[in-house]
Order: sequence, then C-alpha cells, then structure tokens
Amino acid sequence: MPWMGWQPLPPRKARQAGEGTTGMTIETMAGASITAEAYAQALDAADPIGRFRDRFYLPPGQIYLDGNSLGLLSHDAERETLAALEQWRTLAIGGWLGGDPPWFTLGESLGALTAPLVGAEPEAVVVTGGTTINLHALVATFYRPAGRRRRIVATSLDFPSDLYALASQIRLHGGDPATDLVLVPSRDDRTIDEAEIVAALTDEVALALLPSVLYRSGQLLDLPRLAAAARQRGISLGFDCAHSVGAVPHQFDAWGIDWAFWCSYKYLNAGPGATGGLYVNRRHWGTAPGLAGWWGYEKSRQFDMAVDWAGAAGAGAWQIGTPSPLATAPLRGSLRLFAEAGIDALRAKSLAQTSYLIDLLEADGLTAPRFRYGIGTPRQPERRGGHVAVEHPEGARIARALKARGIVPDFRPPNVVRLAPVPLYTSFHDLWRVGRALREIVERGDHLRGERGRDLVA
Ligand SMILES: *Cc1c(COP(=O)(O)O)cnc(C)c1O
Repeated sequence: MPWMGWQPLPPRKARQAGEGTTGMTIETMAGASITAEAYAQALDAADPIGRFRDRFYLPPGQIYLDGNSLGLLSHDAERETLAALEQWRTLAIGGWLGGDPPWFTLGESLGALTAPLVGAEPEAVVVTGGTTINLHALVATFYRPAGRRRRIVATSLDFPSDLYALASQIRLHGGDPATDLVLVPSRDDRTIDEAEIVAALTDEVALALLPSVLYRSGQLLDLPRLAAAARQRGISLGFDCAHSVGAVPHQFDAWGIDWAFWCSYKYLNAGPGATGGLYVNRRHWGTAPGLAGWWGYEKSRQFDMAVDWAGAAGAGAWQIGTPSPLATAPLRGSLRLFAEAGIDALRAKSLAQTSYLIDLLEADGLTAPRFRYGIGTPRQPERRGGHVAVEHPEGARIARALKARGIVPDFRPPNVVRLAPVPLYTSFHDLWRVGRALREIVERGDHLRGERGRDLVA
C-alpha cells in the first residue's frame, strides 16, 4: 500500500491546518514494514529539510536525542559567536552602537527575529534574561492580589523552578503558598486535563502560569482555549514555553495570550545559558514592570540617566540590565536556520518523527509485557510537543545503557527516558537505531545491571 512520507502510521485522523503540508508522497514502499531499516531510509530520502543536518556539529559517533535539554551547536551559531568575540576585540566600547547588530538594541533586534516563532508582532517580543528570571519579571508585573483574588494557578506537573518562583512571589506579597498556590492535579501522572485547569480558574484566582508543553510527558496544552477561558474570568495568564518555542508554532497575538517566556538553549539551539526571551501582548504595554531596570528604559533617552523611569513602548520595557552579546550571538545564527526551514515544516517533521518512534516501538513489540516499555506522551499529534516520553521501571538504567551505546537521551524521575528528535538534525534512521537499541538492552538484560538512580545532571 502506498503511504505518505511524514504521515503518522497507521493513518490517523486529519491533521490540523498547517501541519503536514510539506509531506511528500512516496510510492515505492509497497508492503514495507515500519520496523524495516529501509522504511526509515525512505523517510529520510523524502525529507525536504534533511539537508539542515549538515549545518550542525553532531557529536562524533553519537545519536543525540537530548536537544530538548541542550540543543546542538550549528555552524551558523558558531559563526555569529566568533563574530561577536571579534567585535569585542576590535570595537571595544564601540560595539554598543557599532556592532553588527549593535549590542545596545540586541534585545529588540533578536526579539523581532524570534517573533515569527511565537506568532507575535516584533515589538511584543524581547530577547533578555532567562526562563526563571523572565518568569519573575512577568509575575512581579501581573500578579496583583487584591481582596478575594489572591491565588495563583499552576499544575502539579510543572517544571519545579516555576513552582519555586511562584511560591516566592506569593511570599513577597505576604501570602502563603500553602493556600495561595493552587496546583491542578494530574489523574495519570503524565497529563493535565484542560477542563480541570479551566475549573480551577475561579474568582479567587489573580494569575495563572501554565506550561505550553509539559517537560516530562511532552503533552501540549490547548493554549488558545486556556487563554480565552482566563480572559473571560479576568485572570492574567502566562505560559512557560521552554519546551515549545522552536518545536511548535504559536499564534500568541491571534490567541490573545497575555504574556509568555522561554529559554533559547533547548529547541532554539543557542547554547548553554543562552539569553532567553519573553512576550507581552500589546494590550499590556505601558503597564509598569514589577522589576524595572535601566535596560527597559525608552532607548533614545536611556543615557539621559534621569531619576524617573520611562519605559520602552513594547515588550522591551521588561528588560532589566545589560545584555550579554556573547550569550545572545549564537541565537542570531540559530534563528537563521529556523527562518530558512520554516517552523511549519519543522513541526510537520517533528510530528512525523515522534509518531514514527511511537509506532515503531509498538510495532516491534517493545510495549508488550516482555519488554515493559510504555509511551507516556499523548498519541494525538495536536496534544504532543517535540519529544517522546518512554517509560520503563528501570528507566535510569535504560538511559545509561543507551548512553553506553552512543545514544544520548535524558532521564526524568521516576521512570521517564525522554527522546527528542530535533527536526533540524535528527534523521529517521537515527530513530530506527534507537528502536533497535531499546530492544537489545532488554534482550541482553543490560537494564538489570549497573547503577540505579540518576546522575547529578540527568
Ligand atoms: C528548562 C526549563 C526551565 C529552566 O529554567 P532556567 O531559568 O532557564 O534555568 C524552566 N521552566 C521550564 C518549563 C523548563 O523546561
């Protein structure tokens, strides 16, 4: 039977608009099994964006599936970083205005380049700070507890840093996280039901902060639905998009998202500790930032050194202090790759790859009791971010055994091995080899040997 390149197999329900539009038809694979190596090779041959793999430094001898923790270095990012270093050497202080791009407006210029990835007008995005820092800057602005409305809604499956930050913000306002921080529970320890989030948005809630994609299971929440529900109820809602920016298209402006933030070192491939980003919807421009600093000042007058603060017109007002050109330069190179490949094509390939990996493990019998692998990621493409959560009672040892075979996953307690195919540089054949390795590890009993538990950095 002829099949479509990049269509999840077996055929599933119709894709969302904009997804799968770059898929190519392959007519030559009649009768081929999804578990066949040739099947993966045919998918690679039909991949219209496979060429971007050559723009990256792939760790020699490894299959790298940890791009959702730290993306790989591209030649483009390296070039921009070396250029920034060169400009420091040759321009010194002159780099603030004479750099290419000028360091003085790096946050704004890189924000404009990032805006297409989140579906925003250029001035609504600024590249600054980091994930948790931007969370604080935005929550300090939009959390205004008053009267009965004191609570913050988040989820029990949030990345811990977000919860630590929210609890500290509540304390700053004299509240008690035990009563004021409401965590929407998970019924299966993997996913959160949007209906339960909406139900938690009561008239005692002042603010909600939700992940776009859950870091462990990879569930993608329904952002437009949640944004609409929060707005109806007069609740300020922000999204932590660390696991969706660069992996999933967004339409922040059209969806009416209030505010959002993310990091650049995961799917954006801008390097360890790279400068993050934030979004503020136009209707909130002019709101006084809760954590003001001189870098958020109106640019033309920043060096007036006036005593009173006058904020920039757009999201730039949420910058706090001097940016790091060296920690921002790689992002400029990396964003070029996103502009060339297009986020819709990247999303189509990402879904094809995560679908392929799930289908491959199932077709190969790895989810049967003998192997005990499980899939913790939602099967519906529209509920899935960029990675697959493979569960196993010996997850930590499985992750180590994969590493011993040159395959780099990561591990999240208690039992999740995260595998992130990154459409810019992961091939279908890589994934086929991962499937083989997962089978071999259990067949040989490698998962029953070696140290239990995670490494210091997992
Ligand atoms: C990676 C990640 C973070 C990390 O925060 P940093 O401030 O960049 O260290 C925060 N939240 C989520 C959801 C993440 O995935």
